[in-house]
Amino acid sequence: MEPQALQIIETQPDDTILLNEEALRNILTQDEIRDRYVAVISITGAFRGGKSFLLNFLLRYLKIKYLEKRNVTDWLTPEDGPLKGFSWAAGSKRHTSGIMMWPQVFLTTLPTEEKVAIFLLDTQGSFDNQTTMDDCAKIFALSTLISSVQIYNVMRTIRQYDLTHIQCFGGFGNLLTKGESAPFQNFTFLVRDWACPYEHPYGDIGGAAMLEQIFSSKNPEIQEQVINIKSLFNETNCFLMPYPGRTVDASNTFNGSLDDIDESFLDSVSDFVTLLLSPENLVLKTVNGVKLKAEDFMCYITEYCNILKD
Ligand code: GDP
Repeated sequence: MEPQALQIIETQPDDTILLNEEALRNILTQDEIRDRYVAVISITGAFRGGKSFLLNFLLRYLKIKYLEKRNVTDWLTPEDGPLKGFSWAAGSKRHTSGIMMWPQVFLTTLPTEEKVAIFLLDTQGSFDNQTTMDDCAKIFALSTLISSVQIYNVMRTIRQYDLTHIQCFGGFGNLLTKGESAPFQNFTFLVRDWACPYEHPYGDIGGAAMLEQIFSSKNPEIQEQVINIKSLFNETNCFLMPYPGRTVDASNTFNGSLDDIDESFLDSVSDFVTLLLSPENLVLKTVNGVKLKAEDFMCYITEYCNILKD
């Protein structure tokens, strides 16, 4: 049977947070990973923003490079079949709730000889009309705290509204870490369907220019938000992604076939995934600057869930 994402953290109808300890323990305490450092990639943002779809590209790369140990120059070929893994769907109903973890763990060794286990998280769409603001803030804070890279997925551009949300959700992070240092690690804005490549080109360079433009805004309100956001994260990045094409965007028959995806999207996704997942670029999970091992990672998630659960 094909593996499926496991719900490790769930929001309850009464707004409390429930940790699925058994599912988490089954993944994290396997002998071969217990003693490894962890790299945790999470994606969050409004639902129907293409998060699950993107995660399946990450999954394909991880499987080919770290499970099958094949050459990654050809990891995006139609011969490997359609994309699969995290469920993505046409339609407007949300189908992810809380935090999901992919049950397969990918193992590698960094150029520094450090042994690492890589985890993927899919986070409940924030800001939809089925979830209270309080729940959104908690889930956002949790998934950002437990990841080494949080990808913040937005459609078309970064709006002031996004900055306001990050600032508001980030408050929980400061509370939990008592404002000692930046509570979160790397934060990457991923702009989907970027339509102005003549202003800022697709990719990380265009993304950095766009972020710089926002960060140097003369609007005092934005300036204040930027100072706050910078204090929340060790590093902030941005990546601009092109439109994937009509079939991905607007068809209910799209089955994940790479032939149906625009080539420019595939090129950009390939750059993005390499920047994120190649061994030289992996970011290890740290807490107060100390690298975390898989075993401690379990305690860390449990502790934060306990603090935020009510
Ligand atoms: P999620 O709710 O954020 O996980 O979104 P999904 O990954 O389930 O995707 C929702 C819909 O958007 C599906 O119909 C996808 O085929 C489509 N989609 C995925 N990626 C993109 C993208 O980059 N741009 C556009 N316009 N649509 C996308």
